[in-house]
Amino acid sequence: MSFDLVLFGGTGDLAWRKLLPALFQAFRHGSLPPGGRIIGVARDELSDEQYRALIRSRFEQVELAKRPSPEEFSRFAALLHFLRMDLSRPQDYQRLAATLRERRAETVMMYVATAPSLFAAVCEQLAGAGLNTPETRIVLEKPLGHDVASNREINATVRRGFGENQIFRIDHYLGKPSVQNLFALRFGNVLFEPLWRRETIANIQITLAEDLGAEKRGAFYDSTGALRDMVQNHALQLLCALAMEPPINAHADAIRDEKLKVLRSLRPWVPEALGQHVVRGQYTAGTIGGEPVRGYREEPGVDPRSTSETFVALRTEIANWRWAGVPFYIRTGKRLAASDARIVVNFRPAPHAIFQSPTGAANRLVINLQPRDGLELHLLAQGQDSRGGARRAVQSLTQVHLDLDFEKRFGSERVGAYERLLLDVIDGRLNLFVRSDEQEEAWRWVEPVLEHWQADTSGPRSYAAGTWGPSAASAMIARDGHCWSEEC
Ligand code: NAP
Repeated sequence: MSFDLVLFGGTGDLAWRKLLPALFQAFRHGSLPPGGRIIGVARDELSDEQYRALIRSRFEQVELAKRPSPEEFSRFAALLHFLRMDLSRPQDYQRLAATLRERRAETVMMYVATAPSLFAAVCEQLAGAGLNTPETRIVLEKPLGHDVASNREINATVRRGFGENQIFRIDHYLGKPSVQNLFALRFGNVLFEPLWRRETIANIQITLAEDLGAEKRGAFYDSTGALRDMVQNHALQLLCALAMEPPINAHADAIRDEKLKVLRSLRPWVPEALGQHVVRGQYTAGTIGGEPVRGYREEPGVDPRSTSETFVALRTEIANWRWAGVPFYIRTGKRLAASDARIVVNFRPAPHAIFQSPTGAANRLVINLQPRDGLELHLLAQGQDSRGGARRAVQSLTQVHLDLDFEKRFGSERVGAYERLLLDVIDGRLNLFVRSDEQEEAWRWVEPVLEHWQADTSGPRSYAAGTWGPSAASAMIARDGHCWSEEC
């Protein structure tokens, strides 16, 4: 199948850090259909050869295992082309049309990896130049808007040019092997389904922690904040994957219908919950890995009086029969104690204790998303107590865990998140992409929090870089009698 993949923002950070390495991995794994072209687009004046040289030099900064050998790169480079365009100039789209007419590929993909302010203009201009043919797919990066109104406006513009089944809204967390395995675990096995409900689950925690700061994206981050950057999209998509009902089949709309129901069942915010169940924080100077790091307000591009949150912890519930009363905790932040993305499903303790168990011990399923990806099942087992424990009247149990490390199990066959998603775009599979109504519902749910913060002049609580965020986040979960997984 011949394809043309047009990479708007082809010289940008996302393109060289994530997209081109993912395309190279697909090429290396032999899963990229032969006869494709990858056309990088930006305003620079570059020839194909200069673009290839630029990408080759960028690959030097990619992690070693994903770096091509010179021979591999020269084969991959044959796919790479460059087209100079200013995306704000309608006349430049005619040059793109001419480039695409050169060979009329069976599938054309437009990946919009540029600043969000250009999304609507690009979609309008593509349609204006007749480049929204039925075989064209458009891929949109986050963030799609900054509130309900702006999200609706962008989606309306995109839909004027493209049908919903041509629009691929990326949430790269959905492409992660552990998240796909969460679907497999829940809907490909019978083991957990009877337990996956309020009667047996005490609480669920989603942690998306980074030890990095705002880095070079200070200006972008300062106008966005953690709630918009991580919660509205990634954390809520993970929550949907955890809480959704089994879809009737594996088709995209069957899955997305069920995710939408979860978003619609999220408990609406009331003033009391906004005060007690949401904690926002901002990091101050501290230490990461033994090295001193500056505070958020000292980061380049950040307003020295900024009140943007670099940390959010919140508690919510899903108001339906399966989940009523079960707290779902979401926590995300920058400059935290570790780079660690994981979901922890804490099961209830046994209803009647005939063994002695370690304090706070629980049956627990941990879904590791980053840096490792895999599953851990924590259980209580009879320890081998050499001091004659077996003879004691009350036997004491100890905590053990079963560990499935996907890297060890699947090794080099493992398909990374962007690789998976790009291959799905090429194949036209929408299962792991977000539909507009899901996205709008997620914005509708986070908007009251944003409004509450805007009216609340006390600003975010500070936390020292290298910690797990403000102590109020621990107090919030402790009020329910629970604790974050690293605390207990
Ligand atoms: P970036 O490094 O600033 O790159 C922007 C790219 O767009 C450059 O290639 C730039 O090239 C091009 N560009 C800008 N204005 C243009 C115009 N008028 N006409 C043609 N090309 C233009 O940005 P990024 O970090 O890659 O982010 C791109 C998108 O991905 C954003 O929506 C961002 O939110 C999203 N995203 C990024 C990351 C990440 O890790 N970086 C992660 C998730 C999502 P020229 O300036 O040379 O034209």
